[in-house]
Amino acid sequence: MLSYQHLYHAGNAADVHKHAALAVALDYLTRKDKPLSYIETHAGRGLYDLDAPEAVKTGEAAQGITRLQDQFPKDHPYTKALAAQTDHLYPGSPAIARALLRPTDTLHLAELHPQEYAALRNNLRAPNVHTYQQDGLAVAQSLCPPTPRRGLMLVDPSYEIKADYSQIPKWLGALTKKWNVGVVMIWYPILTSGAHRPMLRGLQTAHPEALTHEVHFPPARDGHRMVGSGLFIVNPPFGIGPVLKPLAAMFRKLT
Ligand code: SAM
Repeated sequence: MLSYQHLYHAGNAADVHKHAALAVALDYLTRKDKPLSYIETHAGRGLYDLDAPEAVKTGEAAQGITRLQDQFPKDHPYTKALAAQTDHLYPGSPAIARALLRPTDTLHLAELHPQEYAALRNNLRAPNVHTYQQDGLAVAQSLCPPTPRRGLMLVDPSYEIKADYSQIPKWLGALTKKWNVGVVMIWYPILTSGAHRPMLRGLQTAHPEALTHEVHFPPARDGHRMVGSGLFIVNPPFGIGPVLKPLAAMFRKLT
């Protein structure tokens, strides 16, 4: 059963980290005039109304994007992606990608939840966007290697079930055998319980060349278990590490 709804968490500090890093990576990839594939395994609905009761109830966006937005320089790719969204909705990762990609690029977006999927289809309608109401990890395996072969995949599960952690290292091993040139960004929460650590160790052992990028922030409310956000990036675009570095200090200021 799918109970997770991202509207409760959209725009939180982890979203800002993930979306800012995604924007930086896409900015690098689109500097070359060659088309690329963008694949998302867990797309969500694409756009979020941060004034909705669900978002207001948790207050996570108020602790995240509301406090962080002005910290990004005007010429940062994330600032550009936010500015492209003119209807005051918060852009989720598919909308960030749409803002930064070109009509010649191809987007594949998977989302399993029926309501989220319906909203995604409606929000991201375009000739170069393909949506799938199927398991995103399976969709990714079936698409790879994609056409065009250059590209980026974002893997952003909700980690509602423990299997989300345990299946990812094996899944990534199979994927990178088929698509060894793709940039694969796997998001994970940094939890007080340390539940993310075995998965991260497995990923780092199997992919020693990959980049791990983490930021730390205070819990969004008392007792909240998430105290940071991590990205494990296979085939990181050359030069991305130094550009991501200042994010850590930016999030530290939230304390
Ligand atoms: N990537 C989105 C963003 O940053 O804007 C947020 C995605 S949210 C963290 C995770 C999403 O995965 C939820 O919308 C949930 O319904 C969906 N989901 C859960 N299990 C899935 C599966 N097996 N395949 C595809 N989507 C799934």
